[in-house]
Amino acid sequence: MEMENIVKRTTAGTFKLYKDFLSLDGGLKKGLEADEPLEVKKQRFNIRQLVMLQKITASWDCTDVIRKGMSIFGGHGVMEDFSALPRLYRDSAINELWEGPRNVLLTQMHRDFQRVSKWYTPSEAIKGILKEGDAAVVARFQAKAEELVAHPGLVAPDEKTLDVCLRWDKFCHDLTHAYQDLAMAEVEKALP
Ligand SMILES: Cc1cc2nc3c(=O)[nH]c(=O)nc-3n(C[C@H](O)[C@H](O)[C@H](O)COP(=O)(O)OP(=O)(O)OC[C@H]3O[C@@H](n4cnc5c(N)ncnc54)[C@H](O)[C@@H]3O)c2cc1C
Repeated sequence: MEMENIVKRTTAGTFKLYKDFLSLDGGLKKGLEADEPLEVKKQRFNIRQLVMLQKITASWDCTDVIRKGMSIFGGHGVMEDFSALPRLYRDSAINELWEGPRNVLLTQMHRDFQRVSKWYTPSEAIKGILKEGDAAVVARFQAKAEELVAHPGLVAPDEKTLDVCLRWDKFCHDLTHAYQDLAMAEVEKALP
């Protein structure tokens, strides 16, 4: 049940994001400071972050789901001459790494949130990403985003920064799941 839910929400989130990406005039332009209307810049920012959020979360969840899938088959689950799961498990670990390893994308997103904060505060951005979200849930993400983005950066090797890094990692993972759950709810609402 849990595995099925992860697969469904990941798929729903991917299609929702792709639909929004296709609606962007000119796709994802380089840089965050393009000279265009504020609302367009904000939407471009949301999609830029969601591409990274989906990437780190979907690839991470994929490895977890395949590992659980292998465990269902016991010894056979880890034998390549019995099932494709060990190969998919190995491929899945590659997905976590290429096209942007997790830490690199987490750092990039933190920097992006800081760069736009003069014209798009973390709270506004969270509202923009979780548009149809429950107000109490959105408020919790907004409070965390304001606090974590206020930390100067994620590269200094001090204890406070290491703590912020761990919390930013979890925050981004949870934010993606909240977005995916909203996408899932949209699909379920549309079903006959
Ligand atoms: C099977 C395979 C096929 C590939 N095919 C291609 C291809 O066709 N074309 C292509 O261009 N590349 C390709 N790559 C390369 C791939 O994009 C890189 O391996 C990937 O981007 C990671 O870079 P890296 O290996 O240099 O690791 P590194 O960048 O050295 O990363 C190692 C670790 O350090 C962490 N790290 C790195 N920088 C930071 C930072 N600033 N802050 C915090 N942590 C950090 C990372 O998260 C990671 O955990 C392929 C890789 C594989 C495995």
